[in-house]
Amino acid sequence: MKSRIAYLVEPNQFEIRETETVYGDDELLVKVEACGLCTWELNHFHGRIGKTPMSLGHEWVGTVVEMGTNTSGFMIGDVVTGLPNQLTGFSDYIAVKGAASFKVGPHINPVHALGEPLKCVITVLRGAAPEAGDFGIIMGAGPMGLWAIQALSGKLLAGLIAVDIDDEKLALAKRYGATHTINAKREQVPERINEITNGHLADFVIEGTGSVSVINDCIQLLKYGRGRLVLMSAYKSAGSIDMETVINKSIEIRATHPGYSLNEVDDQRRAVSLLNNGVFQMDQIISHVFELADIQKAFESLEKRPPGYLKGIVVPNKYGRSYSGFHG
Ligand SMILES: [Zn+2]
Repeated sequence: MKSRIAYLVEPNQFEIRETETVYGDDELLVKVEACGLCTWELNHFHGRIGKTPMSLGHEWVGTVVEMGTNTSGFMIGDVVTGLPNQLTGFSDYIAVKGAASFKVGPHINPVHALGEPLKCVITVLRGAAPEAGDFGIIMGAGPMGLWAIQALSGKLLAGLIAVDIDDEKLALAKRYGATHTINAKREQVPERINEITNGHLADFVIEGTGSVSVINDCIQLLKYGRGRLVLMSAYKSAGSIDMETVINKSIEIRATHPGYSLNEVDDQRRAVSLLNNGVFQMDQIISHVFELADIQKAFESLEKRPPGYLKGIVVPNKYGRSYSGFHG
């Protein structure tokens, strides 16, 4: 299938090229509805990972247009999302493994069904291992933090506390089910946590700010005895962890990155099932939508994060028939 594809031709410079997208026996040929912009790929954009020229994009969702002979359970026209085969999501058509793809319900806006980051949220939840009556803290109410809040909302926890420095994000956290919000710019986080949990402190803290200095704050907020410190973010610098408190409190540090999953295909299945169940909501989280032709602009805003930026997506044909339309 003829397809446009975005190539990073040199660091910080994209170019749209034409390609022929082919697919194998065990693959689906998918027309891309959307592909999410992920901060991890800023590493590629800046030349820290990979070699140019290279394609990017792993948070894909699309419509099945052709199927390999060795795939089953799909029909042409199905909307699917799943694990990426390669980083080729910023294009019109991609080939994906049937066995790692899952059907999105017809009630879900196709451009909302970004499977891969939701798979990562499932892995984070596994690390948090919420138990009945736990107090949980989400540090950083970015997209991942907000999805985690959506999944953890409900009545299982004694408290689900969102911490950020942005009141708009905290308002969203509240809307999605956080029981308490703390603005770390204005409030003393340890005092507030002590008060909310009545001195118990947190059973788990999900660290999503990406700031290494916050890790020690998280350690302070955890209870004595097997509190779970869940590292959802990636960190650029080494920092120094307060090992004395880690040891004194017997804290468990869990890096909930893909290796933590043990079965990413199954975590992907779980993620799509929560999406189809209405647990994961995207309407207020996807803040910016770009055409494929504007990929350069898309990565620049991913980098600069203009006011109100939460999550950007590329919709190859934003003004085409399949785009369901919303702000951005
Ligand atoms: Zn990603």
